Amino acid sequence: MLLTSWGRYPSITSQVTAPGNVDALTQELSAYASATRLIPRGAGRSYGDSALAEQVISSRFLDNFIALDAENLRISCGAGVTLAEVLRLCVPRGLFPPVLPGTKYVSVGGAIAADIHGKNHHVDGTFCDHVESISLALASGELAHCSRTEHSDLFHATCGGMGLTGVIIEARLRLETISSVSITTEANATANLKESLTLLNEHNEKKYVVAWVDCLARGAALGRGIIHCGDHSNAGKLQHRESSSIGVPFTTPGFLLNRATMATFNSLYFKRHSRAAGARQQHYDSFFFPLDSIRNWNRLYGSRGFLQYQ
Ligand SMILES: Cc1cc2nc3c(=O)[nH]c(=O)nc-3n(C[C@H](O)[C@H](O)[C@H](O)COP(=O)(O)OP(=O)(O)OC[C@H]3O[C@@H](n4cnc5c(N)ncnc54)[C@H](O)[C@@H]3O)c2cc1C
Repeated sequence: MLLTSWGRYPSITSQVTAPGNVDALTQELSAYASATRLIPRGAGRSYGDSALAEQVISSRFLDNFIALDAENLRISCGAGVTLAEVLRLCVPRGLFPPVLPGTKYVSVGGAIAADIHGKNHHVDGTFCDHVESISLALASGELAHCSRTEHSDLFHATCGGMGLTGVIIEARLRLETISSVSITTEANATANLKESLTLLNEHNEKKYVVAWVDCLARGAALGRGIIHCGDHSNAGKLQHRESSSIGVPFTTPGFLLNRATMATFNSLYFKRHSRAAGARQQHYDSFFFPLDSIRNWNRLYGSRGFLQYQ
């Protein structure tokens, strides 16, 4: 099949297999590993080609929760479980993953393999700083368990290892406590790069800080943006909310994404958020995952796709 990741570029012809259980996975690895270019794949939300190869092994069958230890703030689950599923289980119990990316539809295996960061990188580090142990199937088909104290080289190579050390089967993660789903957020517009950097530094003590930068603004407005910051609030309930289900129904023509349309979009975005600047209570879902409210929004990249450098 023709396979791409979230950016829809590049696409390659791959054979995707979805083993039904760990035994089938290890058999497949020992059968293929030496002969074929093979890579594990989680939810396919990465950009570029990190989850693309001639042979792809999907981890989505590893979708089981193993244990939730609310007292000790630990969760163990299969690598194919998504962070959306972790949130659905944890939030009503007052528990929260310490690091979240800009979409909740990534798998735990993908989050470990890319050692993802959140809006609290300056305070809490990366996803793997909160991973206690990992079980994985090595390229030989053998199973291994690793942590900071057991096979620590394998553990550190797997954290951020982009799937190159084997297929992550399950992991034990640390959680934090929350008393509400609300985040006290504040948004401030900045006129240029200097102001953006100053404000980012000023908000350093906030748990979450993120800047949207208008990369098409030029001259005196170079680097203008909106700085969003937030802290967990105590106001409100522990009510999990699913993102709304509006979707982009078809792939838009590629020519719609060009410098002129993006500059117009950026100007409108900047004006809208400048007007709405100030503090407010926001549900964590819209604060962390604004794009998740539109299904298949990557169709806006057009049929040629989009290449993201991070
Ligand atoms: C809208 C959006 C916002 C994002 N925001 C952020 C952000 O704020 N911060 C950030 O750091 N990233 C962000 N990302 C990137 C995303 O978090 C990472 O690319 C993540 O790895 C995707 O996880 P996945 O399950 O979709 O993995 P895939 O795309 O399927 O795979 C990504 C990599 O993980 C490996 N992998 C997947 N599963 C396993 C497994 N079971 N065992 C071993 N290796 C595996 C693959 O081989 C590949 O190298 C964002 C992506 C999108 C689309």
